Amino acid sequence: MKHLSAITISIGDELLSGKTLDSNNAFISQQLDMIGIPVIKKIIIGDIAQDIKDSLDWAFAQTDVVTLTGGLGPTHDDITKSVLCDYFDVGLKLYPDILEALKERFARRGFKFSESNASQAEYPQNAVLLENPLGTAQGMYIKNKGKHLFVMAGVPREMEIVTTEQIIPILSKLTSASISKVDIHSIGIPESTLYELSKPILDEYSDLKIAYLPKQGMVTIRVSFPSKSMDEDQKVKDEIFGRIRDLKPKNIYGRDDEVLPILIGKLLKRNQATVVTAESCTGGLVASLITDISGSSEYFQTGYVTYANETKISMLGVQEQTLVDHGAVSEETVSEMLSGSLSKSGADYAVAISGVAGPTGGTEEKPVGTVYIGVSDTRHQNIKRFQFGNNRILNKEMSAFSALNLLRLLIQEGNQ
Ligand code: AMP
Ligand code: MG
Repeated sequence: MKHLSAITISIGDELLSGKTLDSNNAFISQQLDMIGIPVIKKIIIGDIAQDIKDSLDWAFAQTDVVTLTGGLGPTHDDITKSVLCDYFDVGLKLYPDILEALKERFARRGFKFSESNASQAEYPQNAVLLENPLGTAQGMYIKNKGKHLFVMAGVPREMEIVTTEQIIPILSKLTSASISKVDIHSIGIPESTLYELSKPILDEYSDLKIAYLPKQGMVTIRVSFPSKSMDEDQKVKDEIFGRIRDLKPKNIYGRDDEVLPILIGKLLKRNQATVVTAESCTGGLVASLITDISGSSEYFQTGYVTYANETKISMLGVQEQTLVDHGAVSEETVSEMLSGSLSKSGADYAVAISGVAGPTGGTEEKPVGTVYIGVSDTRHQNIKRFQFGNNRILNKEMSAFSALNLLRLLIQEGNQ
């Protein structure tokens, strides 16, 4: 066991020209840092065989762990595998089971299977494959003269899953720096505010590493520290999570895999309750997030997407006069969407959303990003006005997650 360090290499002409931002390097660095393996240098190179070989020589001369992303697709510019065969002086090995799976996958989708696709079943002989459940290019682990090389497809979501599911577990076993971590999830608090609020607490502990990870307008605080024992680590994690959550329990909602759709599922199941959604500007995103969770049929009742005024009236029973007097984006309309969806579906809880997703359609009174979000049980409603930004997609995501957070609070309050 020893302290390891790493060098990351990203391959792709588009990364050099700036057409694509090199996000892979950043993700890998963060993940490795969390298990105590610092990335000491990063390299970006084009799709050029000699540059790949030179980079490998250079990286292996300085460190024990090297990652390589990009150039694993089936097209002519994807040269990583042939370069690796050259570099290590090995041939390609065909994996018949992967070939069969590829053919089946193409047939299922009605695509023609070609020679270049078959290359996705061949890998250098000295590579151990790392499963990539999201694509056809498998990851690779090549051990050579005491050094560790990890090779992945460039597609960020494929790279992410191979890193977290395959590479991190392998490296965790190799490094002496055993690290414990807890992810603390928040919504509706700007990163800077969260930092200022949590800093006094986090400063009390020595040896903590803190990363603020913003995503879809929400922020996760990732806290990691050198591991002592399972019991002690757990105590520290529970204490830090509890203290940070108590700073703003309405916004800081969960830890680790307790993301909002999962949390909502747990709460509804525990209460043997069901939920209905009535969505306008989110176009069904709340329903989609809830049903991302396996087993959601136990608690997800119905999702109405009432984008037009007419369907708000015909499907949910919103009064025409309410729309005339207050507009579709209003507390009054959302209130009637809540009561209409509850009474039509017979569910126990309802979520309703109406807003101006943008980038056009704003007014002085209701600028782009104005969203009314309501939740309700059979007894009371809670409707809030939110003011998000100008980005349509982000507005939809923020609205949907904020709705799930309000629903969480309503269910939890009811349980108290
Ligand atoms: P490749 O594996 O080279 O075929 O890349 C597949 C896709 O992932 C392409 O759209 C690339 O632009 C993208 N990609 C490759 N490397 C990176 C990287 N380091 N950061 C972000 N995207 C990348
Ligand atoms: Mg490429």
